[in-house]
Amino acid sequence: MAQGQEKHVVVIGGGIVGVASAERLLQAGCRVTLVEPGEAGGPQAASYGNGAFLSPASIIPMSMPGLWKQVPGYLMNRTAPLTVRWQYLPRLSSWLLRFLQAGSSKSRVTRTASALAQLLRNAPQHHLDLAMRIGAPWMIRSQGLFYLYTDRAAYHADRLAWDLRRQNGVVMQELEGAELSAQVPGLANRYGFAIYLPDGKHCVDPGGYTQAVARWCETQGMSRKYARATGLTHDNGRIVAVRTDQGEIPCDAVVISAGISSAVLARMAGDRIPLETERGYHVELPDADLDLPVPVMPQDLKVAIVRTTGGLRVAGQVEFASASARPDWARADLLRDKLFSCFPALSGTDPAKVKRWQGNRPSTPDGLPVIGPASGIKGVFYAFGHGHIGLNSAPATAAIIAEMVAGIPSALDPTPFAAGRFR
Ligand SMILES: Cc1cc2nc3c(=O)[nH]c(=O)nc-3n(C[C@H](O)[C@H](O)[C@H](O)COP(=O)(O)OP(=O)(O)OC[C@H]3O[C@@H](n4cnc5c(N)ncnc54)[C@H](O)[C@@H]3O)c2cc1C
Repeated sequence: MAQGQEKHVVVIGGGIVGVASAERLLQAGCRVTLVEPGEAGGPQAASYGNGAFLSPASIIPMSMPGLWKQVPGYLMNRTAPLTVRWQYLPRLSSWLLRFLQAGSSKSRVTRTASALAQLLRNAPQHHLDLAMRIGAPWMIRSQGLFYLYTDRAAYHADRLAWDLRRQNGVVMQELEGAELSAQVPGLANRYGFAIYLPDGKHCVDPGGYTQAVARWCETQGMSRKYARATGLTHDNGRIVAVRTDQGEIPCDAVVISAGISSAVLARMAGDRIPLETERGYHVELPDADLDLPVPVMPQDLKVAIVRTTGGLRVAGQVEFASASARPDWARADLLRDKLFSCFPALSGTDPAKVKRWQGNRPSTPDGLPVIGPASGIKGVFYAFGHGHIGLNSAPATAAIIAEMVAGIPSALDPTPFAAGRFR
């Protein structure tokens, strides 16, 4: 079938990647069923609690040259932005080695950055377009984004990352001293330098936005199945149904966008994908008295600070542990303390009024998502592994998926995202 018409597609997972894919598939003329055991964009999803950044700068992978030198220090320091639960280290070791290898040279990270730049081109604007299509343009705000540094020397220490951004067309402005203090009232005076990204945007409620996309899709005819996908049924190597804990759903195509749970399903479709959770946290202060129209990312703290409809949110941390391990709320408390160090006037906040959340970033070691067909079953497509940039890159992923399902050549080169790169 050359076009989407009459094709029944099951989308597994109601995070932002799944619902954005569903929306594009409906546009392509497919019949769509969303399989998700919880609410779309509910707290079980990474899409609920992220940092809400829609940043043109997010083309830089986490693993960069020299990171390996910092890892031992991180592991010994309880307050570091990255931590590993020791009992998890044996399971993590091969992923971690691949992760460090992916960032081991300038040429590797240059390749990764240009693949991500392709995926993220105009991503903030694509979100605004999506929000308009679903009738909720207010959910995406266009105030730009600040990346904060203590001084120009600290910024220069990140030169490779910013050079790559510049080479990939990211528009940026420098801001210093009093000009910065005027733009970010209440900011700790240790910050003397910033990069402003005028094209950056943010989402005021990532979970609510995901849910709003799903609801809009339902008004456009999408069926909703509150179920967990458990298997894939094929006939002569072509998908014919998705098995769930609530019964089987016949279909012509499947999109696996189940976040951190995607690797188990991909295995059934013939691909072994090294997918790990980079567990993250957020803290939200519902009553914070701080005027912060433009979100900030202090580079010394490695957190995103953003005003959402739920309050002032600080999000960050990378914790390697099993996806099902209990949250270590001390990690969230660290975020709260970092927020206070950034905006000292908030330090008196009543701890009882602080809300905390933990979620799983679905991460590949090379910092690139997995987008494309499965190797073992025709009609199965992958849309997962977006790590730190899944909110940002969801519309572009959705566009690629809809084109692939409909059999239309993709406008973007999907080669860097193919599952086969891990073979
Ligand atoms: C602290 C933190 C900060 C972040 N900040 C940003 C940011 O500022 N900008 C950005 O772009 N990204 C950010 N991210 C990353 C981003 O949140 C994720 O990449 C993105 O949400 C992943 O979306 P997803 O749809 O792939 O997965 P998820 O949102 O995790 O959704 C997966 C869904 O699949 C469902 N599911 C699982 N198994 C099954 C099954 N078997 N059957 C059916 N359904 C299933 C789950 O219930 C879940 O709802 C951040 C992440 C974290 C944790």
